[in-house]
Amino acid sequence: MAAQPAQRVRRFTESVIREMTRLADETGAVNLAQGFPDYDPPAKVLQWAQEAIAAGENQYSVTWGDPRLRQALARKIGHTWGVELDPDRDITVTCGATEGVAASLLAVLNPGDEVVLLEPFYENYVPVSHLAGAKTRFVRLTPPDYRIEEEALRAAVSPRTRALVVNTPTNPTGRVLSAGELEAVRRVCLDHDLILITDEIYEHYVYDGRRHIPPATLSGMAERTISVGGLSKTLSITGWRIGYVVAPPPFSEAVRKVHDFLTVGAPAPLQVAAARALDSLPSSYYAGLAVTFQAKRDRFVKALQEAGFRCRPPEGAYYVMAEAPMLAGLSDTEAARELIRRAGIAAVPGSSFYHTQAPDPGHPVRAGRAPVLRFAFCKRDETLDEVGERLQRLAAAKGASAAG
Ligand code: GLN
Repeated sequence: MAAQPAQRVRRFTESVIREMTRLADETGAVNLAQGFPDYDPPAKVLQWAQEAIAAGENQYSVTWGDPRLRQALARKIGHTWGVELDPDRDITVTCGATEGVAASLLAVLNPGDEVVLLEPFYENYVPVSHLAGAKTRFVRLTPPDYRIEEEALRAAVSPRTRALVVNTPTNPTGRVLSAGELEAVRRVCLDHDLILITDEIYEHYVYDGRRHIPPATLSGMAERTISVGGLSKTLSITGWRIGYVVAPPPFSEAVRKVHDFLTVGAPAPLQVAAARALDSLPSSYYAGLAVTFQAKRDRFVKALQEAGFRCRPPEGAYYVMAEAPMLAGLSDTEAARELIRRAGIAAVPGSSFYHTQAPDPGHPVRAGRAPVLRFAFCKRDETLDEVGERLQRLAAAKGASAAG
């Protein structure tokens, strides 16, 4: 039949994260499903965007990104990595890290190539790999540690493997990959001539004194790493769609071609405002994110645990994967719906971060028996406290019904 969408689109469903947001909006539930802040970006950042629009920055910027933003990124990232980056060659501004990852995968994967993903994974990587015509191979990381083991990584690599995707700090597990784990990644990439695509959107969200290690800085990795980042989370501007890709020239050129024909460019005035933010915000701003979010993490994990959820404090990013014993017997998708119905709280079913929709017997989401849900805690303290109270009422109601 001709009048049908393409087969490649039938291989994946719509985003569960965004579906849960729609459900939250429909029901008025507190949205801890999609990871976006419920507070404003710094006031200055808003002012700079308004000024850029008023100053006439309203037409396409250079496709690769406004030069001022690429220069600001080169300074910030170059300083952090301890290298000199060329804004005209090494950096491409994209519509969010989402487009950055998509453009990178489309730029390097040939039909039939394999790409290795660490599972649980951020849900975008799979559909985009399929859009590129590639096959996905998974390395399952098991709770509660979700550690990368070199042997498991090697076992997933075949002669057809072209790339590996690593997200650190990790959505949804909250892992910050250690030097040892990244060394394993490095060895496997070098031994098998793999391209490493990183998603470092949560680079500043690291807790308990941990340090984010940019994989491109590891010995021998700069020439085979495509590093993706963005300002959505760092500046609380998820709706602005400002991301970027840092890569050596052959990959940058390929990413730029894909980006050009996908989106032409990220919003021009917002790029100008983002450049001013990078040039103006002191390093204490970034350090402050880790401090503020460690406190939010502690506040929220305590609320979850007091209500009977089982979880560990994440090492970084702003998500918690939690087991819900009070919803045992339900699938995680049913549990997410029940949590909206009974408590007015939206979360994401844990299985959305796995490639099998109905978990197989060895599936970690099922292994603990209780359904697993992912909560985002990038919210105002009042929101987290309100959720804490709702969770308490849920726990009390459950206790009462169990007693009765
Ligand atoms: N990265 C965020 C999350 O995991 C937002 C996802 C999205 O909708 N782009 O919730």
